[in-house]
Amino acid sequence: MILIEHATVVTVDRERRILRDGAVLVDGRDIVDVGATADVRPPRVPDRVVDGRRRLVLPGFVDTHVHLSEHLNRGLLLDDIPVDRYLPDWLIPLYAVMTPEEEQVSAQLACVEMIRTGTTTFCEAGTLFDVAAVADVVEAIGMRAILGRWSWDRAGGPGRMRQTTADALRANEEMLAAVHGRAKGRIGAWPLLLGFGTCSAELMRGAKALADLHRVGWGMMHFATHPSRKTADRIPLAELDALGVLGPNTKLAHMVYVDDADIRLLARRNVKVSHCPSAALKHTKGLAVHGRFPEMLAAGVSVSLGGDSGNGSNHVDMLRLMYLAATVSKDARLDVGVMGPERVLEMGTIHGAEALLLEREIGSIERGKRADLVLYDLDTPEWRPLLNPLNNLVYAATGASVRTVLIDGRIVLDEGRLTTLDEPALYARVEDLARRQIARAGLPIESKWPVVGA
Ligand SMILES: [Zn+2]
Repeated sequence: MILIEHATVVTVDRERRILRDGAVLVDGRDIVDVGATADVRPPRVPDRVVDGRRRLVLPGFVDTHVHLSEHLNRGLLLDDIPVDRYLPDWLIPLYAVMTPEEEQVSAQLACVEMIRTGTTTFCEAGTLFDVAAVADVVEAIGMRAILGRWSWDRAGGPGRMRQTTADALRANEEMLAAVHGRAKGRIGAWPLLLGFGTCSAELMRGAKALADLHRVGWGMMHFATHPSRKTADRIPLAELDALGVLGPNTKLAHMVYVDDADIRLLARRNVKVSHCPSAALKHTKGLAVHGRFPEMLAAGVSVSLGGDSGNGSNHVDMLRLMYLAATVSKDARLDVGVMGPERVLEMGTIHGAEALLLEREIGSIERGKRADLVLYDLDTPEWRPLLNPLNNLVYAATGASVRTVLIDGRIVLDEGRLTTLDEPALYARVEDLARRQIARAGLPIESKWPVVGA
C-alpha cells in the first residue's frame, strides 16, 4: 500500500477536480481512494508514504501512436531528404534488417523516454516484427501497452517485408494468441495496419473482423497525411465506411486532411483519432493550414495524441506534443481560446484511454482505476509560481520535472531513478546496435558539418 499525501492532484475525473492538499491511496495495482488528505485514511499502515507537499500528481499520459523500432536509428535522416524518400530509401532497408534484439533495445529506449516524460501507456503504430520479444521487454520495464505487427499486403520489400493478405492476417492472429492479455492484461495486441495505400480492402476488413472477434481494437496509420500523396494515397473516409470497418474500436492516426462530412462520419461512428503534431510539423504535412483537430473535438470526436517515430517527430515527449497541439491550433485559427490546456490534457490522458478502449481502467485518477500516476517536482523553475497548474503543465513544464512514476501500482521511476532497467547499460547497447544496424542496411551516417576527432 502506497499513500501520496499533501499533494496537488489533477484528477481529470468527471468533474475535472484539482485537489489542493490532496491524497491518493494505492493498494496493489489499484487506486483505492482519492480526496483531501484529511479524508483519505488507509485501513492499515502503508508500506510507503510519499510527502506530496512539493509534488503535482497527474494520471499517466497515454500515447496512441508510437513506432518503437525507429528509436534505434533516431535522427539518422538529414533534413534535405525528401519526405517521400524516407520509406523506400531509408526506413524499409532498416526495418528489413532489424533483429529481434534490436527491436527490444529500441523499444527499451522509447519506453525509458516515455516514462521519463510522464507517459505510462502507449500503442505501438504497427511496425514490429517480433512482437513477443518486444512484449518481454515492455513487460519487464513495467509499462502498459498495446503492440502491433508490421501488416500490409499491397506493398513489398526484401524478405519478410513482402506479405500476402493471408500472411498478414495469420501473423496478426498468431500475435493476438501469443501476446494479448500478458502481464495480467497490462500488455495487449491489436491488428494495426500500415495504411496509406499499402493495404487491400480485404486486409482492412480482415483486421476489423479479427478485432471484433477478440474484442480488441484495430487501427491504421498514415491515413490522409501528406499533400504530395493527397491524390495517390488518400482513401476517402466514406470508402472506408462502405467497407464496414469504421466503429468505436477503430483508431486512425494522423488524419490531417478531413472535410466536414468526414468529421460528421468520424463522430457518428465514434472512430478514435490519433493526432501526431510534432510528426506532422516536421514532415511538413500542412498541419497549421489543413488540420481540423479543433473542429473534430467540437464535433465530439475523441482525439488523442501520438508521438510517432524516431525520424518523424524524433521524440515521444507528451509535454511537447501537448504544447504543439495547443499552440499550432491557436495560431492557425488566430484565436487564443482554441485548444486550451484543459483540452490538450484531456487529449493526452482520458481521450488516449478511450482510443485504446481502456477508459474504465486508466486516463484519470479515480477510485477503482489502475494506479498509473506521475509525480512532478514543483521545486523547479518551470512550475513556479503555481497559480494555474494546467498552464504550467502545458506551456512551461518539461520532462525534467518528472520525479516519480507508478504504473499498475508499481514504482518504475523512484525520485528520478529508474527501478526496472539499467539505464547506462542500455545507452551503451543503443550506441553499438544502432551503428551495426545502419551498416547492415547499407546506409551512411552523415553530417552537414565536419565531425572532428575520433
Ligand atoms: Zn506513424
